[in-house]
Amino acid sequence: MLQPFIVTPGTSVCLADYDADDTGHYHHKSETKRPLKKLQKRLRKLQELLYAENQRALLIILQGMDTCGKDGTIRGVMSGINVQGCDVVNFKVPSAHEASHDFLWRAHRAVPAKGIIGIFNRSHYEDVLVTRVHNLVPEEVWTLRYQQINNFEKMLVENGTVVLKFFLHISKNEQKARLESRLRDPRKHWKIAESDLRDRAYWNDYVHAYETVFNTCNTEWAPWHIIPANKKWYRNLVITERVVESLQKLDMKYPEPTFDISQITIKD
Ligand code: ADP
Repeated sequence: MLQPFIVTPGTSVCLADYDADDTGHYHHKSETKRPLKKLQKRLRKLQELLYAENQRALLIILQGMDTCGKDGTIRGVMSGINVQGCDVVNFKVPSAHEASHDFLWRAHRAVPAKGIIGIFNRSHYEDVLVTRVHNLVPEEVWTLRYQQINNFEKMLVENGTVVLKFFLHISKNEQKARLESRLRDPRKHWKIAESDLRDRAYWNDYVHAYETVFNTCNTEWAPWHIIPANKKWYRNLVITERVVESLQKLDMKYPEPTFDISQITIKD
């Protein structure tokens, strides 16, 4: 079993103490191919069970600095699962319609239905991150949001949604290398957003805003995981294992038929 990278509720987090380069006892991607394949096979079976049981949902929240690998995680962890039972939702700058509601409205609408694995690519946490760093709303508004987020997530958990929150932790140097690689490769130019370059200058402000999130919204019912993400292959392995474990814990069962199957014969 890998290190779970769960932040114990009550821990005071300083991101500098977390090693973004960590790869546990692995040294090379090739060593993780087999364990990853095994986990993906288990994940496929568990997803089918979640879908068949139709009682619980799994919400995976992905957050991190620009280029941290949210898209790659979705590809790497979810490859091979049944798309019918999976929703991916990207949280961008709110539309005028979204902005006319409370900040949790669009998140709540996007929460997966029973039986479904939902992935938030960014999330309601943007409303205490980018919003705070760039002063998009007054302080007296964003300070209330931490508690509102905790209450919202508690309500989801109490209603049968498992909430898994992952911070994909990359170093500032790794972000530089990833941005440079995008600049060098014309096929990756579409991935470069002006906001990525703008936000790099605010790195320390984001670190501070994330630390507040980890120290304020890290609850028993929905704790954060800080995942070392400089090495994409290790990131995918750890996250897949966490997802498999949390589905296993649900101890799901295929539903019993609603009528007596033994009495049925299929006529010619
Ligand atoms: P990504 O960077 O996730 O691949 P985009 O390049 O489309 O995707 O960036 C989405 C942008 O939307 C990010 O800069 C993010 O900070 C911004 N965003 C998301 N939610 C909000 C919000 N609630 N308020 C303001 N900006 C937001």
